[in-house]
Order: sequence, then C-alpha cells, then structure tokens
Amino acid sequence: MAQSTLVTGAGIIGSAMAWHLAEAGCKVTLVDPSDTGGAASAMSLGWTNATYENPRFYYDLRRFSMERWDALKATYPDLPYRRNGTLYTSFYGTPLQTVYDEHTPWGYPMTWVSAKQMAELEPRLSVRPERGLICPVEGHVAPHEAAVFLRERAVKAGAEYVRSRVLSVLRQQDRVTGVRTEHAELKADVTVLAAGRHTGQLAQTVGVKIPMTAPPGLLIHTKPAPPLINRTILTEDLHMAQWPDGTITAGGDFGGGAVNDDPETGAQILFERLQKALCPPAPLEYSHHTLGLRPTPQDGFPVIGSPLQGLYLTVMHSGATLAPAVGALATDEITTGQRHALLDPFHPNRFANTGSE
Ligand SMILES: Cc1cc2nc3c(=O)[nH]c(=O)nc-3n(C[C@H](O)[C@H](O)[C@H](O)COP(=O)(O)OP(=O)(O)OC[C@H]3O[C@@H](n4cnc5c(N)ncnc54)[C@H](O)[C@@H]3O)c2cc1C
Repeated sequence: MAQSTLVTGAGIIGSAMAWHLAEAGCKVTLVDPSDTGGAASAMSLGWTNATYENPRFYYDLRRFSMERWDALKATYPDLPYRRNGTLYTSFYGTPLQTVYDEHTPWGYPMTWVSAKQMAELEPRLSVRPERGLICPVEGHVAPHEAAVFLRERAVKAGAEYVRSRVLSVLRQQDRVTGVRTEHAELKADVTVLAAGRHTGQLAQTVGVKIPMTAPPGLLIHTKPAPPLINRTILTEDLHMAQWPDGTITAGGDFGGGAVNDDPETGAQILFERLQKALCPPAPLEYSHHTLGLRPTPQDGFPVIGSPLQGLYLTVMHSGATLAPAVGALATDEITTGQRHALLDPFHPNRFANTGSE
C-alpha cells in the first residue's frame, strides 16, 4: 500500500531511496538544501567492490548491490557506472593470497595474473609485482552524478524535491511524524534520514543514538589525459581510476590517515606517487584535490533500519557500492513491513545501549 514518505538528504543514498520509494508507489518528498548530488558522494572514488573490511554478511550485501548496479546499467545505459574490473597489485598491507582465500570460497571471481599478463592488461602501469589479482565484477560509479541521475528519475516518478534544511525530526509519543525544516513542518508516515554524516545529529533530536565518525579522505584529480588505465588499479600506496572524460582520480588509503593531515602536502605526495605508478606518453597534469568526510557509523558497518515507528535510517561508508541495494531493500522493508535477511546485521538498534552519540 502506498505511504507518504519523506527522505532527508539527496546524496547517492537518499536519491536511491527516493527513486525506489517513488517507483514503489509511495508519495515521496526529498529534502536537501543543496543540489550538488551529496556531500561525501561528491568527494568519493566510487569504486564498487566487495573486498574491503569484510565479514560475510557485509560481503553479501555489497555483492548484491554490485549486481543491482549491473542490472540498472542494463536498463539505463546513461547511468554513470561501468563494470570495468579491478587489478590488485597490492591491498594495503593484507597479502593478496589472504584476499583471494577469503573471497573466492564465497564465489567471488578473482583470478591470478602474472607480471607479463599485467603488462598486457595495463600497459601504462610502471610498477608490476610478480603476480596480481583481477576481479572482473568490480567497477566504478560517479557517485554525485549517479545521485543526480537517481534524483531526477525520482522526480520523474512523482517525488517532490524540496530545497531546504531539516532542523529536527518531529516525534509524537512513540512515533515519528515528519521533520521541521528551516521553512516548514513536513509530515509523513515514514521519515527516512539519509543525511550522510549529519544523520546521527538528526536522529538524536528524537532520542535515537547513532554514534558516527567521519574520517577524511583525500583524492587528487588530474586534467584529462589520453586513455591510460583500463580498470581500477590498487598498488602498494595508491588506488586510481580513470573516468570516461580522461581525468584520473587517485587516493592513498580507505580509512583516513596521515596523508590527510596536511591536504596540500598530501596531494603533492599522491601526485608524485601517481606519476611514478604510470608511464604516460606525455606528462600528467595535476588539476586539484578534494578532501571528503566519509559518513561512518562507529563500528564501521552500515546503519539501515527503523529504530522507532515512522523513522528509517540509511547511513554508511561504501555508499557508492551500496546505494542500489539499500534503495531496493529498504524500500521493500518500508512498504511491506518485512525485514530482509541481508539487512538484519545492520539494524540501528545495535547502538541502542551505547549511551553516547
Ligand atoms: C574520499 C572518499 C572516497 C570514497 N570512496 C568510496 C569508494 O571507493 N567506494 C564506496 O563504495 N564508497 C566510497 N566512499 C563512501 C561513499 O562516497 C559514501 O558512503 C556515500 O557517498 C554516502 O552517501 P550519502 O548519500 O549517505 O551521503 P552524502 O553524499 O554526504 O549526502 C548527504 C546529503 O544529505 C544532505 N543533508 C545533510 N544534512 C541535512 C539536513 N539537515 N537537511 C537536509 N539535508 C541534509 C547533504 O546536503 C547531502 O546532500 C568514499 C567517500 C570518500 C569521502
């Protein structure tokens, strides 16, 4: 049965929620003061993968989501996503053998390649160890462009897009009834908070505790270059990808760290690493750096679920990978009231007794 829903935040997660809810027949109001396609989403590498920080339940959700990206791309060829694979020559201190042994028994397709094969696959890569891993099902999404793409489809499917900031969530006894924005009170049967790193603060306004961190992530961006990289490549001290417009984005870590402390110097270091990692026909030209804050629940895992009647939370790192799964599964849960097994480990109630925000 169609319900009225209100989604706070139009990054990749909120936009995916708004679109799926609208397609499911819900009345949707999407609220965000900005139209840039998210905050973290606009600063993200957008690597879609299922290998990082990985107990089985997290792997399963990410794998499901990667398949959803593929299915969406088949339906919407303009979606800024491509499944171009990853070459792992290293994995930030974890031996590649461990990555292989952990994931291939779960059915994850990873194959060993020799230095010679790497040279054929990625001829511009200058540093090649004796062997690496190829994962063909990983890919790359432009998260802010994908957020705008999904938001526009949500509006086409009937969602109303309201440019305003949510100040607090409204609660009447045991039930959330909507939000107060800087312009008005908006009422709905279900209020979804997808406000990235601000989700914890908003949930706190109705007494729901979601401890959050926001580790910084530094990325550098080059000016457009001729095609140099065919897939996402992970080396010992760099991850890099080339976008269809020729620009290369590169970063140095996934969890925040020393390279972020002084972004100007960190960016120079990353650019030097990138120049050493590739051998382009002409020198690469530096464009700029970005420093994004990753919305991350304190235990590192997504928060997806309803802690209170009328309230639904969707906040996570790896949102570029997870957006289509979260949009689809959370919408099912909101419209049917049935919990999906893939979402069980991510319920917000795991923080109910932490006593901190
Ligand atoms: C450097 C970096 C690299 C990353 N690399 C990857 C990667 O390779 N793969 C991967 O899967 N993930 C990656 N991530 C993580 C991923 O980008 C995020 O998980 C994802 O973008 C989060 O999307 P979101 O929509 O939840 O949040 P955001 O994009 O932050 O969007 C939140 C939205 O909420 C709005 N908002 C906030 N407060 C309010 C309010 N009070 N009222 C109304 N609206 C509000 C904001 O304006 C914003 O538009 C990376 C992140 C960073 C920073």
